[in-house]
Parts: sequence; structure tokens; C-alpha cells
Amino acid sequence: MSKSNRYDVAVIGAGSAGLQAAQTLGRMHRSTVVISTDRYRNDPTEHMHNFLGHDGAPPAELRVAARKDAQAYADVRFLDVGGAGVTRITGELGAFVLEIDGEQPVRAERVLLATGVRDTLPDVPGIAENFGDLVAHCPFCHGHEYADTRVGILGAAPHVAAMASMVQPIAEDRVVLTHGADLDPTTADQLAALGASVVTEPVAGVRKVGGELLVTLADDTEVTLGGLLVKTEWAQAAPFAEQLGLEMSEMGAIVVDAFGRTSLPGVYAAGDLAQGPGLPMPMASVLVAASAGMMAAAACVQDAALARIA
Ligand SMILES: Cc1cc2nc3c(=O)[nH]c(=O)nc-3n(C[C@H](O)[C@H](O)[C@H](O)COP(=O)(O)OP(=O)(O)OC[C@H]3O[C@@H](n4cnc5c(N)ncnc54)[C@H](O)[C@@H]3O)c2cc1C
Repeated sequence: MSKSNRYDVAVIGAGSAGLQAAQTLGRMHRSTVVISTDRYRNDPTEHMHNFLGHDGAPPAELRVAARKDAQAYADVRFLDVGGAGVTRITGELGAFVLEIDGEQPVRAERVLLATGVRDTLPDVPGIAENFGDLVAHCPFCHGHEYADTRVGILGAAPHVAAMASMVQPIAEDRVVLTHGADLDPTTADQLAALGASVVTEPVAGVRKVGGELLVTLADDTEVTLGGLLVKTEWAQAAPFAEQLGLEMSEMGAIVVDAFGRTSLPGVYAAGDLAQGPGLPMPMASVLVAASAGMMAAAACVQDAALARIA
């Protein structure tokens, strides 16, 4: 552990990306501080899927175990903070300064950003209450749970046809709820070819009834679903990409190389907030975030080691 408030690496965020990064850095005896608030993207859900050995486990259970693993290494310190958490990063490679809400600043040679993203849900009554359960945004995370039921897909943009196609082997039936919007002719043709039905009436609200989701339309008719897939709007959870002027992808993710290096020397990024080479979007999952955390931590170690012998 650093005797001063200065570390080899400051990891910001203790979701799966930050926790795995901490373990990797601890194993390599790099003085590491993990600074984190307590807000995780998957807070709305009680079950995490598609993670080897932990399929269906509560997300917090994995984090508790991962934190314990990282804490076993003497060089790792956790700094759990409240309020806005880390508010500002200044400096450069070898001399970054992190300002923290209610705490003394922390200094670090390198910074690993693992602060994730925040979702904004479609503005339909009942969606927020059921998000992470009968309403989901990702069929890889919550799709099998809707197996053999009528699955709704909310929206009218072209992605609804791709989603209807993706869940075809899972769902007994698919219905696209355009919420009052018009489909473009290509999307309408694709949905017709897939045999998905389309409801154009606006959605007045959704609510859980028993194990099903009852959708009430504006004309008071009702549709019962086994699950509803929605598209969320997401944005960086923390302001650091903007503060540091990092290169961003068109989708709003931090551009990183395969090792999690950002466009600014000494700053690395891992998890949902970052987009690696060749990917059309950030591949948001707990496992991918953990893997990215390990890669970025390895890059911190490797870059410092090479700098030492240069
Ligand atoms: C409803 C829902 C269900 C999901 N289900 C699954 C699933 O079943 N399986 C799956 O693989 N994926 C699932 N996901 C996706 C998964 O949640 C993410 O891919 C994963 O959490 C990303 O991890 P992360 O470490 O990048 O970010 P997060 O887990 O969001 O962690 C971000 C960390 O940064 C901290 N932080 C943010 N800002 C600051 C700041 N300014 N200062 C200090 N700390 C800060 C937070 O407190 C937190 O510790 C789901 C997502 C949602 C929304």
C-alpha cells in the first residue's frame, strides 16, 4: 500500500472492470487505489446471466467475492467514497491528480477508468419499475427468461427487426410495439417476413401481473407479454472522458486499443464505457468488462515496465 497518497495506478470504479483490474494489479505488486461510489449499471436486476460459473447469481454476490480477492493483495487499497465520487482528473502520465468529493486528492502515475455508463429508459409508465426483470434491454442477459412466451419489442427504429430476428428461436411469438411511431417500409417488410406482429397504438403503461407483463395501450386494449425488450439511451456515468479530451466513438464510448489504452498516454479505460477496435459498439456485459479490466491492468503494468528500461 502506498505510504503517501500516491499510487502507481488509480482505478476509478469497482464494478467488474475495476475489480478485475485491481486483482491483476495487486498480483503484480503495483500500488493501486480503487476509488468508487456504490452505483452499478446492473443495480436494477437481481439476477446476472451469461457469466461462467455464476449464471443467475445476484450481481452483488460476484462483486463481494471479487473485492475479497483483490483485497487479499497488500498493494491494493479500496477507497469507497460518497457523493459525486471522483469529480476531476488533471495532470499527465506520471503525475495525475484525482479530486474526490469530501476526500483528499489522490495522485497516481496512471489512471484506469472503469466508471461505466448510465441508462435512460423509454418514458413509459411502469418500464422503470420492471427494468431488469420483465423489461430488459439485452436479450443475452434477459432473453432466455422469456422463453416460449410472447415477447414484446418496443420501438420503431430499424433495430426492432434485428431484435425480432434475434429472439425468434427463444420467443413463442413476437410483437413490435411502435408506440405510435411509423415503421419505415424496409423494417415493416422485414418484420412481416419474420412473422412478427406490429401494434402501432401508443403504449399507455406496463405493469406486472403475476409473472407476466400487462401492456395497456392508449385505446385501453391490453397485450400480455412474457417480457419486453427496450432500447436504452446510455451515456458516460462520469465526466472524465470530456475533461481529459479523450477520443470518443460515434456512439459515445471512449475509444481504446485492444489493451484498453485511450488516446491520452497514461489513461486506460475498461468496461461498458469503452469501445475496442473492430467493435460496432461497447460490448456491455459483466464478463467482457472483467476481461477488459484485466487487459487494461496488464497494459498499465507492461507500459510502466517498458518505460523503466527505455
Ligand atoms: C438491467 C441490467 C441488467 C443487466 N444484466 C446483465 C447480465 O445478466 N449479464 C451481464 O453480463 N451483463 C448484464 N448487464 C450489463 C452489466 O451490468 C454491465 O456490462 C457491467 O456492469 C459493466 O461493468 P462496469 O465495471 O463497466 O461498470 P459498472 O458495473 O456500472 O461499475 C461502474 C463503477 O464506477 C463507479 N463510478 C461511477 N462514477 C464514478 C465516479 N465519478 N467516482 C467514483 N466511482 C464512480 C460506480 O460506483 C461503480 O463502482 C445488465 C445491465 C443492466 C442495465
